[in-house]
Amino acid sequence: MAMKVLIAPSRYVQGPGAMGEIGSQVKGLAKKVLVAAGKSAMAATKELIKKSLDAEGVEAIFELFNGECCDPEINRLKAIAVGAGCNGIVCVGGGKVIDTGKAVAEQMHVPVVIVPTIAATDAPCSALSVIYTAEGVFDRYYILAQNPNLVLVDTSVIAKAPVRFLISGMGDALATWFEADSCFRASAKNIPGGYTTASALNLARLCYDILMEYGEFAKLAVEKGVATPAVEKVIEANTLLSGIGFESSGLAAAHAVHDGFTALPETHHFFHGEKVAFGTLVHLVLEDRSTEQIEEVLDFCERVGLPMTLAQIGITDPTPEKIWTVANKTCEPGMMIHNMPFPVTPQMVYDAIIGADALGRARLGQK
Ligand SMILES: [Zn+2]
Repeated sequence: MAMKVLIAPSRYVQGPGAMGEIGSQVKGLAKKVLVAAGKSAMAATKELIKKSLDAEGVEAIFELFNGECCDPEINRLKAIAVGAGCNGIVCVGGGKVIDTGKAVAEQMHVPVVIVPTIAATDAPCSALSVIYTAEGVFDRYYILAQNPNLVLVDTSVIAKAPVRFLISGMGDALATWFEADSCFRASAKNIPGGYTTASALNLARLCYDILMEYGEFAKLAVEKGVATPAVEKVIEANTLLSGIGFESSGLAAAHAVHDGFTALPETHHFFHGEKVAFGTLVHLVLEDRSTEQIEEVLDFCERVGLPMTLAQIGITDPTPEKIWTVANKTCEPGMMIHNMPFPVTPQMVYDAIIGADALGRARLGQK
C-alpha cells in the first residue's frame, strides 16, 4: 500500500528576540531542563535564556557541549540530565549540538527544544541525528521517533553570525526542490519511509523560490549584521522549508554526491551546504535539466558566493582516481543516488562531476 507521510516539528517560532520568549514557550513542555550549548553559544545566550526560564518558573541546569555528536557525549549529557531530574532538553547552537540534544531527548523520552544560533543546515526541524565517532568520522544516521517539540529561531542572533553560515544553509536548501522533484518522479520513498505529499512537494518548491528571490538580499543584509524581511524569509527557507522538504520528500543525487565527496580528505574543512551546492550542480547535469535551469542555479551560486567548481570545495587537483573514488562511493548500495528516476552508474556520476566542474569553471572564466 502506497502511504504518504509528512513529518514536521510540533511548533516553530521565528523572529527577532525570539530567545527572550523561551520561558513562556517551554513552560508547557517541561519543569526542569538541561540546556546544552557550545562555548560561544553558551557565553552569548546563557544569561538571556536563564532569565526567561526563571521568569516562568522553569528550572535549568547548563552544560557545555564537548563539540562532537557521538555516543560518549550523548551518554554523558543523558547521565547529567537524568541525575538532575530534568524532564526536557534544550540545545543551543549549530548542527552537532542540535543532533546530540535530539538523541539525548529521544533516549530519555522527554521533549526537546531546538534553539539554532546559525542557519547553516536543516538539522533543527528533523527527526534525524547524524552520529559521528569521537574522532569525528561519520558513523550512522539515527532515525528518531519524533520531530522536535519546539524550534525557536531568534533571527537577530542568526543575522549576527558570520555570513558564511547563512550562505552554506542556502547551499543545503538549494538542493531541496531538485531532490524532492526527482524523488517524486521516481516514486522514491522519503526519510520516514512513505511517499511525498502535495504539501511537502510545494514547500520544497517554495524553498527554492525564496532563495532565488531573496537569497542575495539576505546575504548582503547579514554581511551588515541586520535581520531584514529578506533575511527572515531565507532563514525560514534554510531551516523550516528545507527541513520539511528534505525529510518528507526525500534526498537524491545532490546529497549522495556530497556523501561521496567525504571520501576525499581535502573537502573536510568545507561546510555541508557548500558541498551540497556543488552536488546540486552535478544533480542537474546528471538529470539533463534545461540550460535555462542550470544557468539560473549558476547565477544564484555566483551572486551569493556558493561553490561552482571542484577547486572551490578543496579539490584543486582533481585526478581521475579521486573522481572515480567519489563516483564509486556515491553509487554504493543504499546511497540516495538510487532515488533518481533512472538507474545511475558510477560512469554517469563521474561524467556529471567533470561536466558540472567545467560549467562552473567556464562561468568563472577559467579553462
Ligand atoms: Zn543537507
